[in-house]
Amino acid sequence: MSIKQENHAGHALIACHECDLVQRVVDSLPGATLRCRRCNHVLYRHSDKPLDHAVAWSLAGLILLVLANVFPVVNLSVGGHQTQTSLFSGAIALSRAGQFGVAALVIGVLIVAPALLFLLQIAILHPLRQGRLVPHFVQLMRVLSSLNHWLMFDVFMLAIIVAVVKLSHLAQVSPGEGLWAFLGLMVASIVSITSYDTHSVWERYSRLSRKKAGFTVSEAPAEHKSFAPRTRRTALSRGLVCCHACGLLSHWRHGPGGSHCPRCGASLHLRKTDSLTRTWALLIAGYVLFVPANLLPITITSSLFGVQADTIMSGVAYFWNEGAYDLAIVIFTASIFVPLAKLLSLTYLTYSVQKRTTWEPLQRTRLYRMVEFVGKWSMLDIFVVAMLAQLVQFSSLAAIEAGPGAIAFASVVVVTMFAAMSFDSRLIWDPLEKNRNSGEKRG
Ligand SMILES: [Zn+2]
Ligand SMILES: [Zn+2]
Repeated sequence: MSIKQENHAGHALIACHECDLVQRVVDSLPGATLRCRRCNHVLYRHSDKPLDHAVAWSLAGLILLVLANVFPVVNLSVGGHQTQTSLFSGAIALSRAGQFGVAALVIGVLIVAPALLFLLQIAILHPLRQGRLVPHFVQLMRVLSSLNHWLMFDVFMLAIIVAVVKLSHLAQVSPGEGLWAFLGLMVASIVSITSYDTHSVWERYSRLSRKKAGFTVSEAPAEHKSFAPRTRRTALSRGLVCCHACGLLSHWRHGPGGSHCPRCGASLHLRKTDSLTRTWALLIAGYVLFVPANLLPITITSSLFGVQADTIMSGVAYFWNEGAYDLAIVIFTASIFVPLAKLLSLTYLTYSVQKRTTWEPLQRTRLYRMVEFVGKWSMLDIFVVAMLAQLVQFSSLAAIEAGPGAIAFASVVVVTMFAAMSFDSRLIWDPLEKNRNSGEKRG
């Protein structure tokens, strides 16, 4: 469902986060999804579930997170020896091998980020459903909205499959009790996030804080006759700015200290600050790190037959030679093709924005969305290494440790994720607006 074009006087306006097009907010049916009519970006999903739903699933998620850390996810037995891995112990195994950076990253995305997500959802939504506001509501909402990028349960699930296949011919692999907790955890995280929409959470906040203050705060500017002509279609060209934290559209004011959002107080920026410079810097760091990530060994296996160091590519070759073509393709795609394609795509996008080209903005926006979507899947190999390092610890037979390539590879993944976040997709659409407006003036 897209925002309708009928003229509703007094309707609040909303600007698309990806292309900056200003559109009217229409009352939508519960369960409906509002999309931008220019770039098809989801403006917001109108949830049809009460807030209790999200609170209950968050609570379930917290319990399952504890269970997945206490009970083993996978058991491994070979010749009477038994080892097992849980979410937490896999990361600990990495830190034993001296890979503290990688261990911190694994603990961060598998334990800290989801725990924070569930806790914040409960802390914010539980009082809200009773018509109260949690103290520091705005700050907590900001932390909550930044967590979505860092949830990687689906990637970890694929990593479990890869690790199990890799080990199945060496030893007996069986699922642990923790695996079921982990599957439940995956479901709980998805359902809890999708059962409320931040748009209506912020609207409730507006209503409650207005009631508390006893006066009306001037918020989203309503459509008015004195508004800039229809040709000016983006928030920027209408002198409006969209808050990155709460999505509220407000008037842009120049002046010392800059403009602040009238609803949440976040400092407002017409475009992400130094977007191009930051993206270029992170991209260069990504290319530099990509070299050691592929040349240095990512795992070091010591066994009766000696010590063997494996790079990402030799891991792919191993699966290929063993006849596990599908896994070889999955690892090659996630660990080599995706990071490189991401770097190249972002380079192209940043270059095209710098050149202010007006060529196929929709296609370029789609490319950007794809880059954002696939980013986290490159963590696959890091999770596999974390599990192998924990499971394969048979001192007399074989032991696997993370190699120096692991930290370089993890850095590539994180740096490219930050590069994608610092890129401002609205810059793709800006040259179009300029051409359009100068065209109108000449005409
Ligand atoms: Zn849009
Ligand atoms: Zn705001």
